[in-house]
Amino acid sequence: GPIGRELLDHQSRTESNARTYPRRLPIAIGEASGSYITDVDGRRYIDFLTGAGVLALGHNHPDLITAVQGQLTKLTHGLDMPTPVREEFKRRQLGMLPESMRDSMKMHFCGPTGADGVEAAIKLCKKATGRGNVIAFQGSYHGSTHAAMSLTSETAPKTGLTNLLPGVHFAPYGYCHRCPLSLTPDTCVTNCAEFLANTLNDTHGGIQKPAAIIMELVQGEGGSIPAPVPFVRRIAELAKSLDIPLIVDEVQTGCGRTGTWFSFEQYGIEPDVIVASKGLSGMGLPVSVIMYHERLDVWTPGSHIGTFRGNNLAFASANAYLDVLARDNLLAHVRERSAQLMAGLRQIQIDTTLVSDVRGRGLMLGMEMSGRGTAGASEVASRFQREALRRGLIVEIGGREDCVVRLLPALNVPAETVDEALAVMRDAARAVQD
Ligand code: PMP
Repeated sequence: GPIGRELLDHQSRTESNARTYPRRLPIAIGEASGSYITDVDGRRYIDFLTGAGVLALGHNHPDLITAVQGQLTKLTHGLDMPTPVREEFKRRQLGMLPESMRDSMKMHFCGPTGADGVEAAIKLCKKATGRGNVIAFQGSYHGSTHAAMSLTSETAPKTGLTNLLPGVHFAPYGYCHRCPLSLTPDTCVTNCAEFLANTLNDTHGGIQKPAAIIMELVQGEGGSIPAPVPFVRRIAELAKSLDIPLIVDEVQTGCGRTGTWFSFEQYGIEPDVIVASKGLSGMGLPVSVIMYHERLDVWTPGSHIGTFRGNNLAFASANAYLDVLARDNLLAHVRERSAQLMAGLRQIQIDTTLVSDVRGRGLMLGMEMSGRGTAGASEVASRFQREALRRGLIVEIGGREDCVVRLLPALNVPAETVDEALAVMRDAARAVQD
């Protein structure tokens, strides 16, 4: 529409060329509610992007608004001084950990973003171990600051940046659909882990023992790729046996997104460090934390500080989010909507020749597209996204070569909205197929 066009034009004249989302999703947002966005020209969309997986309870959840409004007139920013909502936040967040971990984990507030949390986690492990190398995984995304980008596997954003963090090694991720060696699923999973084991243990050309292994258990930006359970268990075992801290980056997978509070609960492992951010406040207020085993607590006053470690609005909202989570049995809802959405996507895969893989956990799902005629997979994904948008559904594209349609609906998305979105996706797929 005309108002949106003008705002988008204004944005492209005044903002950095690094902006991304509006290029593929040219929408100027007017307002939003729940799982729906209305653009400035009055057009309504289903939002299956939710601020890159930030809006756990969708837009403007009334309970969160009430909590934030109550806090707004008391205190907004409190540096790292204790306040009632801050201490409640910590007590309840640590209480969300599996019982076996609760008493041994400490928390650090890192700043507003996921990348802040990743920076803190890496620094903590380096200092605690006195080592310098870090193992990350192929397909990883950990953020855009210097260290976080160094740990992110995609090379394109790193071109032209010299002297990023040295000593970062990317290990294979163990996802068979993308096995570079075309191994069969059963052997592929173990081979990936054994490859890393060999690299770490070999005294002839192996990698010097790293400060940490950092991994996402479902790669998000990498294309909604869940790591297989035996693979992750083997990595965790390996880390333990070599005394290497395991950092699980739950920035995208955490806070209910995958159907459990943290994704690692589905793997039967106990990470040494957990990074959480995006979904914490439930409504996109910025906050980021690491939780880590107390034996790693080598920091002294000033080791890792920053001004924005006391967003009391985010704490109030996060506390209210946990109330809603329990009251509405939200994790069960996530698993039910996940099954519903997954079934619908599998049907699209059966009914068309566009989809090579449907995958993910909870409400972090993806459809990997395949090439069609002269159009490559990324062109097919991009056409699908356009057709969906024309029909009123916002979806994200990600993954290698941008060929994965990524779905990150609000965790409280109603069943009818999932059906509505699936109907749009069926039509969009048909339009691309024809
Ligand atoms: N880690 C993961 C797994 C992420 O998905 C992201 C964001 N997409 C980040 C870290 C970085 O978070 P932020 O953009 O808030 O810095």
